Amino acid sequence: MRRLGLLDKLNILGDTINPSDAEGRPRQTIPIRQATQEVQNGLTGVEPKTAKKAALPGIMQLAGAHGRTFNLMRVMQTNACSLKCRYCATRCGRKLRRTIFQPEELASVFYAAHKKGYTDGLFLTSGIPGSPVSMMDKLLATLEILRKRYRFSGYIHLKILPGAEPEQIVQAARLASRISLNCEAPSDAALSEIAPEKSLSKVILPSIQKAGELWKAGKLEGKKLVPAGVTTQFMVGPGRERDKEILSLVSQLEGDGFLHHAHFSTFAPMSDTPFENLAPTPFTRGYRLYQAEHLLRIYKLSVNEIPLEKDGNLSLELDPKLHRAILHPEFFPIEIKTASYEQLLTVPGVGPVSARRILTARREGTIFKPEDLAKLGVRVRQTKEFVTIGGIFYGQTREERRETYFRQRKPGEQLSLISRYPIAGAVSPGAFR
Ligand code: SF4
Repeated sequence: MRRLGLLDKLNILGDTINPSDAEGRPRQTIPIRQATQEVQNGLTGVEPKTAKKAALPGIMQLAGAHGRTFNLMRVMQTNACSLKCRYCATRCGRKLRRTIFQPEELASVFYAAHKKGYTDGLFLTSGIPGSPVSMMDKLLATLEILRKRYRFSGYIHLKILPGAEPEQIVQAARLASRISLNCEAPSDAALSEIAPEKSLSKVILPSIQKAGELWKAGKLEGKKLVPAGVTTQFMVGPGRERDKEILSLVSQLEGDGFLHHAHFSTFAPMSDTPFENLAPTPFTRGYRLYQAEHLLRIYKLSVNEIPLEKDGNLSLELDPKLHRAILHPEFFPIEIKTASYEQLLTVPGVGPVSARRILTARREGTIFKPEDLAKLGVRVRQTKEFVTIGGIFYGQTREERRETYFRQRKPGEQLSLISRYPIAGAVSPGAFR
């Protein structure tokens, strides 16, 4: 078999799925394709302007704040793995071209791409061939070279491997901007269904706690420890976990200050895995989890305040904030001209930014009708159902509103998880979030 060059390895180990934003929506991506000869030469010769137009495998363009974009190289150190997580494309024994980047190789490929303007930051993850401790050493060696030899000071997100030693987590916190460790499931029982060789309570949660404590110490003492915080990810759908269990664990970890935020990957079956015949999870389920996590983290709601269906899952049809408002008509309508910031936040269509704008505009006396709210970034179609402006209600009656939001659903009707909702793309081989 032909020996692989660095770009061949990047083609194999670079991520090839669309990333999602914090709310689970697909982001704009640079098209991924086999690098052309010109681009291959680009690592040594093409001018940055030309190079930027072409794509390198593994590089995603993420939409940042204020319309800025950020190019992130998302790559595995190796796609070899001794574990057999049941959903995973990279599981041991699945037919796949396997390779590994040595730390020197990956650091030089990333840094060359960075210097040429292809990428602003790195997301590094890995399979676990044999000992997680020795594979973790390779990941850390890659970061050491980037930080110390190449003096790269930009964004690096490092995925901690389950089984990493506490001292390795400390080192990761010193070298990386953000670290993450995937829970994958919200309980040992749920995890054993999808990744039987892993332990949530004995291995994953203690490591998240260790990473979270380092992040907290870094914030308190002004140390430069993992400044972008700690994240985790759940694989939603192939096990029998319920949204309530997932949100409870997320709420606990965020409440303890160990977690910056959580990601939710919706399951899509891969061929040649034990789950190849399972139905894919609707993309909407992951999207609803992102919305509910937002309510926990930004709006500081408790899990008990998040509306759930009888089966412990979120409604697929209604966003949880709207669902909550409809179930609690006693809280509405809220008077825009006198409501507190906290009350405004409970109104569907009003977020933290638009709530602050309302307070400012109110002081300036510029809110008279729904169109004035629209200028402040409020989603007026929803909001006008839950507010009055100067005592005038511009929405439907309570009955009409219930009819509008619930009309697609008959009482007691069970929602099929594979109904009319869009399905996510292929499972990321190394869980790149
Ligand atoms: S999820 Fe990670 S540890 Fe599990 S099989 Fe895939 S690459 Fe290996």
